[in-house]
Amino acid sequence: MAIYEFPFITGKVTIDYEKCKDCENYACVKACSLFGRAILRVEDGKPVLISEDANKRCIEDLTCELYCKTYGNRGLNIILDMFGLEAYRYKIELS
Ligand code: SF4
Repeated sequence: MAIYEFPFITGKVTIDYEKCKDCENYACVKACSLFGRAILRVEDGKPVLISEDANKRCIEDLTCELYCKTYGNRGLNIILDMFGLEAYRYKIELS
């Protein structure tokens, strides 16, 4: 499994390239160009940062994940390091 990932100020983005292989629209890249700072591009059929330090320009609008899950193939996830989030999710799953 090929996972591409990069950090941003409060978390990180992970992209599962196995899922991107079957993606038809690169919705993550479109979302970033529409709502973010256009820090993603397509290279060899895979979404990547436009440059090694482009992640520093991320405005954390989170639309890459939203568009991926809505229009893409659910390959992109945003991981936010929020105190108490895992415990909260566990509690919700039990109720
Ligand atoms: S929209 Fe999702 S599945 Fe499609 S290329 Fe982007 S990250 Fe991969």
